[in-house]
Amino acid sequence: MKIGFAGLGRMGSGMARNLLRSGHRVTVYNRTPEKAEALEKDGATVAKSPADAAQGAEAVFTMLGDDAAASEVALGENGIAAGLSKGAFHISSSTISASFARQLDEEHRKRGQGYLSAPVFGRPEAAEGKKLIVVAAGDQAAIRRFTPLFDAIGRRTFNAGSEPWQANAVKLCGNFMIASLLETFSEAFTTLRSAGIDHHLFLEVMNELFQSPVYRNYGATIADRAFDPAGFALKLGAKDVRLVQELAQEVHSPMPLANLIQDHFASAMEQGQSDLDWSSIERVLARAAGVS
Ligand code: NAP
Repeated sequence: MKIGFAGLGRMGSGMARNLLRSGHRVTVYNRTPEKAEALEKDGATVAKSPADAAQGAEAVFTMLGDDAAASEVALGENGIAAGLSKGAFHISSSTISASFARQLDEEHRKRGQGYLSAPVFGRPEAAEGKKLIVVAAGDQAAIRRFTPLFDAIGRRTFNAGSEPWQANAVKLCGNFMIASLLETFSEAFTTLRSAGIDHHLFLEVMNELFQSPVYRNYGATIADRAFDPAGFALKLGAKDVRLVQELAQEVHSPMPLANLIQDHFASAMEQGQSDLDWSSIERVLARAAGVS
C-alpha cells in the first residue's frame, strides 16, 4: 500500500520502519527533518510537509505528541487534510483526547476523507519490535481494509467500535491503569526503603504474584531509578492523565485516583522532571518521605 507517516519521534520512527519492512511504500514527514531523513536508508521517501506526505496515499498515519501537535499537522496550513485524496484515510495513533478525535473525524468527513483512531500500547522498544497493541475504532470496512497496516506495526489489534473516539477512550483509561501502577510501586518502594527492606526483593515477589511484563518492566525501572533517557516523557504522561480526567468529567464519572496522580505529576514537573520518564513520579514520593 502507498501510505504516509507524520511524526517520527520515539514511537513513530519504529512504527514507520516496520511499515517499510512489511513492504509498504511509505512517505514520511517530521517537523525536525533529520528524523525523517534517518528513514531514507530504510526505503522511505521524505516529504516536505504533511500535505506532501498525504499526496496519493491510501492512508496517512500520525504519531504526534498531543492534541495541539495533531491539530497543526492534520488541519494546519499544508496539513494532512490539505493533501489527502477523497476516500483516503487519516489514521491517528497519537494519544489524543476523545473530543479532538471527534473533531478530526468531522473535519475529514467534510472533505470527503476518512478518519480512524488507532492508538497503541507499548513503549518505543515495542514499536521497534512490532509488538504494539493496537486499538482501532471507526468505519468498520476501513478497519478491515487497513488491518494489514495494523499487523505491520503490532502484535494484536482490537476493534473498539464504529466511532473513532471510542479507541481513544480505551487508550486513555489504559494509560490511567499504568499511571496507577507507577503510583503504587512508588509508594510501596518508598515505604520499604524507609523501613530498610530490600525493594528489589519486593519486586521479585510482585513479579511472581502478577506475572505481568508491564509490572516487571516498570517495577525494574523504578527500583533502579532508570528515568533518563525517558521511554515515555513525564510531561506526556501528565497530558494523558489530564485527558482521562476530561473524559471522566464529560461523562460525570469520578476518578479520584487520577486527581491524586495528576498532583504528583505536577510536583514532578515543578521539580524539573518533565523530560524524564513518567515513572520518575517515584521521586515525588521519595522526597515527601525524605528518602534519598
Ligand atoms: P516524542 O518522541 O516526543 O515525539 C513527538 C512527535 O510529535 C515528534 O515527531 C515531534 O516532532 C512531533 N511534534 C510535536 N509537536 C509538534 C508540532 N507542534 N508540530 C509538528 N510536530 C510536532 O513522543 P512519543 O513518545 O513518540 O509519543 C508520540 C505519541 O504516542 C504521544 O501521543 C504519546 O502519548 C503516544 N505514546 C507514547 C508511548 C511511549 O511509550 N513513548 C507509548 C504509547 C503511546 P519533532 O521531532 O520535530 O519534535
